[in-house]
Parts: sequence; C-alpha cells; structure tokens
Amino acid sequence: MSKASQYANDFVSFLNSSPTPYHAVETVKSLLTKNGFKELSERVNWAGKILKGDKYYVTRNGSSIIAFTVGQNWKAGNGISIIGSHTDSPTLRIKPVSKKNTEGFIQVAVETYGGGIWHSWFDSDLSLAGRIIVKRDNKFIPKLININKPILKIPTLAIHLDRDVNQKFEFNKESQLLPIAGLTNASPKPNGGCCDNENSKLSTDEYQSLNSVIQRHNEQLVETIAKEANVTVDQIEDFELILYDNKEATIGGLNDEFIFSGRLDNLTSCFLSTEALIQSSKDLSTENGIRLISLFDHEEIGSSSAQGADSNFLPNILDRITGLSGSTSDADSQIQSRILESSAKSFFLSSDVAHGIHPNYVNKYESNHKPKLGEGPVIKINANQRYVTNSAGIVLLKELAKSAKVPLQLFVVANNSPCGSTIGPILSSKTGIRTLDLGNGVLSMHSIRETSSVQDIEHGINLFKSFFDNFTTVEPQIVIDGDY
Ligand SMILES: [Zn+2]
Repeated sequence: MSKASQYANDFVSFLNSSPTPYHAVETVKSLLTKNGFKELSERVNWAGKILKGDKYYVTRNGSSIIAFTVGQNWKAGNGISIIGSHTDSPTLRIKPVSKKNTEGFIQVAVETYGGGIWHSWFDSDLSLAGRIIVKRDNKFIPKLININKPILKIPTLAIHLDRDVNQKFEFNKESQLLPIAGLTNASPKPNGGCCDNENSKLSTDEYQSLNSVIQRHNEQLVETIAKEANVTVDQIEDFELILYDNKEATIGGLNDEFIFSGRLDNLTSCFLSTEALIQSSKDLSTENGIRLISLFDHEEIGSSSAQGADSNFLPNILDRITGLSGSTSDADSQIQSRILESSAKSFFLSSDVAHGIHPNYVNKYESNHKPKLGEGPVIKINANQRYVTNSAGIVLLKELAKSAKVPLQLFVVANNSPCGSTIGPILSSKTGIRTLDLGNGVLSMHSIRETSSVQDIEHGINLFKSFFDNFTTVEPQIVIDGDY
C-alpha cells in the first residue's frame, strides 16, 4: 500500500471514530497517549512537571486540546512552532426540551449549530453522539456515547406535493428541519417502559430545579442513550448530544482518489497536525524549540467561549510553558520578558480547509486562483485580513515545503464573492504571533457530506512535519523587524 493510501485509511478511521468534538479530542488523546504523550491538567500547578525532551497534552471542556513537545535544548525565550485548527463542524443539536409528538410520529426538537448547508441533511440516515453527565457515587462524571445506528431522519416532501422543488428548495428551519425518531404506536406500552421508573416520578411537593431528562425528552430516546452508556436512566443528569450522518467516511473515485465524509472541515487539520506532531516527536535530542498543536471547539460559531480560539486557552498554556522553563533564579520580570521574546520568535499555522475548484461552478472562483484537489495545501490570502497570510509567511512556508517536496497552491476570493474566515485572525491579534492561513482543498464545505483528496492528506502531513522539524532552523533566516 502506498504511503498516501495508508494515511488516507488512517484518516478515514479517525473520521469514523470522531462524530463530535468530544470524540475528536478523545481520538487525538488516544493517538498521543499511544505515542508517549502525558496528560497535564489546568487545575494544578505545573512547576517541575514539564521536562526537556518530553511530550504533553492538556484538554479544556473535553472538546479542545493542546499538545506539545519540548526540545532537549529548549530554553525560555526560544520560538514555538504552532499549528491550530478546530474540532467542531456545523451540526444539529438536541434542544434542552426536545419531546415532541406530531400526527403519530415521535419527533426530536433540534437547534442548528453553525452555518451548515442544511438542505443536505434531508433524507440522510442520522444518528446521535455526544457527552452525557452521569451521577455515580455522589460524583457527576462525563461519559461519551455514540448510538451509531440510524435512529433519526428529516424527510423531504414528495415532489407530487411540491412541483417547484427542483427550482427552489425552501424550508422553515424551525418547523421543517425537524427529525422523526419513531412512531408513537410502535412504542412499548407503559409497563416495562421507562415511564414506570420510580425515579422519573416526583410528587408535586418534592423540590426539582429543572424537569429531569426523562421529562424533557422522549423516554425511549433517553432509554436508548442510557443503554448505550451502560447506566440507568435516573443516573443521567444532563447531556449535549448532536446529530451526525450515520454513513461512514470512505475512500472513493475511479482511482481511489477521493475521501467522502462529513466533518472534513476541520477534522482534516486535526488529523494532519496530530500525525505530524507525533512523527516529529520521535527525536527531540537536537531540538531547541517547542512544537505545539492546538485544536479548538466553537470555531463554527465565532470562537468566543472558554474553550474557543478566542479564549485564554492557548495564551495561558504558552505562558505556563515559557515561564516554567526559565531558570529558577529568574526574577518575574525576566520571565515575562522571555515570554514576549518567545512569542516574537514563534509562528502560527492556522490550518482550516480551503475551497477546491468545483467543476460545475467555475465562475464562482477568481480566475487565477483555482486550487485543485490533490495538488497540495492551499495558502489562503485576503487583503482585508479575513485570512492573515503575508509575504514573509509565504516565504517561510515555501522554504519548509521545499525540504519536504510538497506542492503549494494560492487562493484568494473574487472581489464580488463573500469570504470565510478562520481562527487565524483571532489568534494572531490576540497573541501578536506571526500567522499564516492554509488548508487542504475540499468541495461542498459545510455540507453533511464533503469531498476531499487522498493525495492531499500525505502532502499535508509532510508539510506539517517539515514545519515542526525545520522551523527553528529556517525561522532565523526570515527577519522582518530588527537587524538584517
Ligand atoms: Zn473550518
């Protein structure tokens, strides 16, 4: 098997085990643990915990993760090579009260998350996954679940009842993007059903701050969740569950050149950066920098949350690492100065998918910037700083690509087209670290099923590995501010 197919197969498994941001972080954690990375917690002091030549990761809310390796020759003030991406994708999430029965159908109320192509969710076989909070021995603990069978469907209306549907498919996101989950007459009758569960019944004078999950959601749905989690219904305190396409990610095309899957935006970058960090962590004996990946939740809704890219998660971790690695005799002011020195020598690759050229909509693209699937990572440029790439960053990336023999492509949107954005502008303005936006080309970004290229997975890993392996050698050659 070629290297490209091997990587693509690994990526397909990564996608299939990551239906939600919580699962994505869990998948990344297990890959890191298998390769010797150790877990740190933000809840404790890190003094004495970070050693040169070692590797670590830390999570926040179980849906964002930062992992890093410390070079054997690291000293405070040295540069940090960072790749950032996001763990979330547009989806539908179960509402706090979701119980609904209409015309004999059990329905489950959902809330839209992010800017999805919602029409692509119609007629797909949908499943549920996410995190539940379970009560066990006076403690509340998180548990990940994945139902992994098609239990939900958002059906379209027959064409006979809407003859214009092929000209215009319009729908109401509140009332018509509403999944069915079963038929009420197929539900087991009370007795044996969960509704007889003692814990779901409370006398009217018993205190309850909120209705229990069994009162807010369809009881069979809650039973299915409890069964999957291997707990009893009354142990479930609350949950965050999202819908996903129950069709597995796969490799396709006449020559196995495509990847068809949901969540390519942006599990692609999560996979590439994790894989590159692991590969480049095998030998840290001559390295004098820190290599770091940061995978954030909530990019699709603007990144403003405690675990989003607009939080203090990355700045705090950078401060902790740089501060701790200074000499113990350093005064606080010296440590602070080293932190600033380090950030001026660091670089952030903001990795998110790019718009590959679509053969049926060529006129939607700027005529000289039509990135092709399979022809390498795409550098994203925007004069209005929706992407924060500049020429010095391009020179750095070209140098890194040259040593790994990775082809690169350029993308800019047409002036009459709207432009997306990434965590790049947020983190570069927050930290002052030089940043470049790039990513692998995909088709149908934000659809329930996107398309990308097998070959680009190998290109992406090779480029990111070169970034980690060669950054500290190449970076001093590109000086914009100061003596040169
Ligand atoms: Zn994205």
